Amino acid sequence: MFEVDLGIVGGGQLARMTVERAAKLGLSTRVLDPSPDCPAAPVATDHVRARFDDPVGLRALVERSRVTTFDLESPDAAVLDRLSRRGHRIVPDPAVLATIQDKLRQREFFASRGFPVPRFVGVDRPDLEDVRRFGYPVVQKARRGGYDGYGVVVLDDDRDAGDLLQVPSILEERIDIVAELAVLVVRSETGDVRCYPVVEMVFDPHRNQIDGVLFPARIDPATAERARDLASRAVEELGGVGVFAVELFLGPDGTLWLNEIAPRPHNSGHVTIEAAVTCQFEQHVRAVFG
Ligand code: ADP
Repeated sequence: MFEVDLGIVGGGQLARMTVERAAKLGLSTRVLDPSPDCPAAPVATDHVRARFDDPVGLRALVERSRVTTFDLESPDAAVLDRLSRRGHRIVPDPAVLATIQDKLRQREFFASRGFPVPRFVGVDRPDLEDVRRFGYPVVQKARRGGYDGYGVVVLDDDRDAGDLLQVPSILEERIDIVAELAVLVVRSETGDVRCYPVVEMVFDPHRNQIDGVLFPARIDPATAERARDLASRAVEELGGVGVFAVELFLGPDGTLWLNEIAPRPHNSGHVTIEAAVTCQFEQHVRAVFG
């Protein structure tokens, strides 16, 4: 396998847009994705067909890339961590991925450092007793593998018990949300941090999927400043390098809650392609190459 500049675990739409920007900067790319017709395959220099947890495929990708990054949270962090310890450059660090890809670990990480997160507990296979003890209304989230609202269930009372997911989860208090905000943060290896303007995510109420993004968010400048500060501190605390999407909840009294972080470019940031001098994908490429 020939050497490329940038390897990406995952060949989805985010990888495709990253590859396009990398090419603009003169960089060759290879994506790893099991699907023969994944979105990034036609534009990347090369495509390895392997699963995201395939150690042989991951090793081939990382060893033959100057820098490796990812467009999704699910790659096997332990395999990537071993490769990183052998001196291969993987950005952000696989340890950051490991903290983020498990929602319980992510919550514990930020709660223990004083960040404002909803009250939560970890449960193995939650039953009605666990939920009653925690108290309604409760949001159940699968620890791993959830995205776009899959793996998230809201329970108002005992009648919703049939919706409980039988997987290792967190239970957390349901926050009264007036707006869901996202801040794209980019951090360099040397610790420089910048944010794009805060956006507001509008969700389809039935499917819990993002339906629209308002840029900038309909919030006052002081709240925007607090959101950017909170998001920047969260990425600094992780020691993250590259682009991160920090999702926040805004409560009716102005409280900001840290919901979750994606260690990569994000659907809420596509507007930066036309609306910013340097879009999120190019920022990510620039940051991971230092
Ligand atoms: P995913 O990984 O699927 O994006 P999220 O944690 O973002 O999971 O949850 C999906 C959606 O569920 C959020 O965008 C929000 O609308 C709702 N939600 C999640 N956590 C809470 C909470 N603690 N209180 C109220 N609503 C929540």
